[in-house]
Amino acid sequence: MHVLITGGSGLVGSALLSMCPSDVTCTSLRSSQANLTDYTTALAFIRGIHSVKPIDAIFHCAARVGGLYRNMREPVEMIGDNVLMNTNILKIAHTLNIQKVVCVLSTCIFPDKVDYPIQTKDLHNGPPHFSNEGYAYAKRLLEVQCRAYQRQYNRQYFCIVPTNVYGTGDNFDPQDSHVVPALIRKGVIAQNTNTKLHVSGNGTQYRQFINSKDLANIMWWALENYCIYDTPLVCCPPEEIQIKTLVDTIASILGVEVEYDEAEGGQMRKTCTDTNSQLASFGIHKTFSFMPLEDGLKEAITWYKMHEM
Ligand code: NAP
Repeated sequence: MHVLITGGSGLVGSALLSMCPSDVTCTSLRSSQANLTDYTTALAFIRGIHSVKPIDAIFHCAARVGGLYRNMREPVEMIGDNVLMNTNILKIAHTLNIQKVVCVLSTCIFPDKVDYPIQTKDLHNGPPHFSNEGYAYAKRLLEVQCRAYQRQYNRQYFCIVPTNVYGTGDNFDPQDSHVVPALIRKGVIAQNTNTKLHVSGNGTQYRQFINSKDLANIMWWALENYCIYDTPLVCCPPEEIQIKTLVDTIASILGVEVEYDEAEGGQMRKTCTDTNSQLASFGIHKTFSFMPLEDGLKEAITWYKMHEM
């Protein structure tokens, strides 16, 4: 099997590459090779790959991604670029007769006001949080587009929905990173300057964190085995981790002390139906054993110190 991975240089794409099964050939696509917002360029590039070795499936991980500040700063690009990339990759896959595409949504695109645990049936039942509506609506449209290709052309284009992803190769940008890389970055600075790790908020909230390698394992499994195409597969471990536990674990690995500023924090819980429960509810019995948080954090910290410092 030959699989094309868009966004292969990113957190999720690079994990998919590193976990690629031995009987699969992977080709990674970077934005410098083909800008997916440009249909003609992207089609020519992917057609070129396909003509040398036919592509059987695509993992579509490329996206304009960012934390709260980028979403607030660039709503035009968040919706525009993501809609273009998603529309183009599905159209290209269909044009080249590639039967499978696995697309990546996110739990942060769900309605702001929703009953927990989040279930995929709730995806379109209310507006997302105003801070990320461009990104959220582009992703929601991707889910609709996949179902349209299923219905009209019998394509196996479907979505998976990860919670917070972290791991090696994460984005540690001080402006645009997610909570885990932001804490690692601040923790390493505290370690190097012999100061305390300063945390905004009080750390009482709970979230579900999935290591990028665990996510990649689930995605490789889903590519071959998942068949409920009109129902996106939620990808997350069952445990909810309190932010304070996350902070304490990072601080203990780095040997630094912590100070909280006790500012108003985010929503207390955003619990999602976990992968194993969702698979069990469909009668698909695959049990994933997720990487312990501390092991995943140690790996991510080591990677950060080697690559970003
Ligand atoms: P990332 O590390 O920011 O990587 C984004 C990737 O998209 C990069 O490889 C980038 O390529 C590519 N890309 C961006 N613009 C492009 C363009 N115009 N043309 C071609 N490629 C382009 O993102 P990630 O964290 O791996 O996220 C992967 C997917 O998972 C995304 O769909 C994201 O929405 C979703 N997701 C992520 C999280 C999370 O916590 N990180 C959580 C839930 C869902 P270059 O580097 O070559 O520019």
